[in-house]
Amino acid sequence: MPGWRLEHTYADLPQLFYADARPAPVRAPRLVACNKQLAVTLGLEPETLDGPQGAEIFAGNALPEGARPIAQAYAGHQFGGFTALGDGRAILLGEQVTPSGDRFDIQLKGAGQTRYSRRGDGRAALGPMLREYIISEAMHALGIPTTRSLAVVMTGEPVYRESELEGAVLTRVASSHIRVGTMQWAAAHDDQPALRALADYTRARHYPELADAAEPHLALLDAIIERQARLIVQWQLVGFIHGVMNTDNMALSGETIDYGPCAFMDAYDPETVFSSIDHGGRYAYGNQPPVAQWNLARLAEAMLPLLNADLNRAVELATASLERFPVLFESGWLAGMRSKLGLFTEEPEDKALVDDLLLWMERTSADFTNTFRNLTMADRSEDARRLDAQFDAWHSRLDARRARQTQSRAEAEALMRAHNPAFIPRNHKVEEALQAASGNDDFTVMQRLLDVLATPYDHDRDLPAFSAPGDSRTYRTFCGT
Ligand code: AMP
Ligand code: MG
Repeated sequence: MPGWRLEHTYADLPQLFYADARPAPVRAPRLVACNKQLAVTLGLEPETLDGPQGAEIFAGNALPEGARPIAQAYAGHQFGGFTALGDGRAILLGEQVTPSGDRFDIQLKGAGQTRYSRRGDGRAALGPMLREYIISEAMHALGIPTTRSLAVVMTGEPVYRESELEGAVLTRVASSHIRVGTMQWAAAHDDQPALRALADYTRARHYPELADAAEPHLALLDAIIERQARLIVQWQLVGFIHGVMNTDNMALSGETIDYGPCAFMDAYDPETVFSSIDHGGRYAYGNQPPVAQWNLARLAEAMLPLLNADLNRAVELATASLERFPVLFESGWLAGMRSKLGLFTEEPEDKALVDDLLLWMERTSADFTNTFRNLTMADRSEDARRLDAQFDAWHSRLDARRARQTQSRAEAEALMRAHNPAFIPRNHKVEEALQAASGNDDFTVMQRLLDVLATPYDHDRDLPAFSAPGDSRTYRTFCGT
């Protein structure tokens, strides 16, 4: 396809970090989703995407010009237990350099077995690949750093899970696929030159502003912690639940990565879990900030030999860095909540104001998204707020608080509109789209959903079917392996 400009800087790292790989051809590739806007950003010609050559390339049957396919090695703590992993079903074709000079990994997920497949078949089923496509594109539209989805190709071959499913390959686009688990992989091999090379590479690729830092490795750790804190803040503010925050699913770029059993919370409840395998609630909504910090502690541990030659000093430095995480998270979260409530200024009582709203939401099982959406629009229709006495009392406090800032009602509403999505990928709408696609070969339902989710902050559309919460109490998502 015209426009490919693939480079392979990751493959200049020590051989420890990857293995050559070949996508395994599939029987009958058929393109069922493609992201033309993203293609344009990448410098690819969009018309050629949906031609027969597009399907061949995004299935792995043909390689794009300049590809050098590899599988990346990494380790990870999965639900707390350490394992050697690596791309077992994903193959990196290379790094596309865009017309504006940005660099993005182009990865085929579900493209066949690699050296790291262990006992897996290297394949993926259609439903989970479409789910990743929908949710990752929704996250991008919400303004949350994320990997993106360029295409989904059906393979024409079955995959066998608990039942027989249709196979598919997702083309994923990411700033990179370097994970906390990649650093753990180097550390587990006790290979300091490799560890150092990976840290230097990550810093140059994702944190170029640190080029002249006096203590570059410590600066890298701090910068990763900052970006991760900001990312988790953004998840919490829209009710996104990742579902499997294993250290191999945390990208050092600060992008959301590896959409498996993820979902958006409906009724506000910090204990919300959707993943069918998360019995202990380790990755529940309210646990995401401490789990992120736990993962970052594993990163810091892996980086210890780089931080200082004296281990005790290294531990001291790492501990001080990690202790900044909850502080960064709290301040970022409160700032975001102020915006969600239309507040421009800061007052000491703001945290209590937010906490009391959340307590009310929890007590009444209020829908997280729609509560803020109603607050956003309530300034227009005053009666939207008369929900119950406790809420009215709380809203009077908000009114009094707003009266102490100089910004107008209109300015407050504009701020709220920009921070409270009108539309999120509702679980029942995602399921509906996946069922139409997998069951009926109908991709129009998904297309319509993608269209709505492309402008989540457009409050001027009245689409009740897309904003109604489903019954999430029994909703379960699966890992999609
Ligand atoms: P994930 O749950 O997608 O983050 O995957 C966790 C690990 O299992 C990664 O190392 C994957 O590459 C690997 N994996 C998942 N599914 C398969 C599969 N069908 N075949 C081979 N490896 C897989
Ligand atoms: Mg993963």
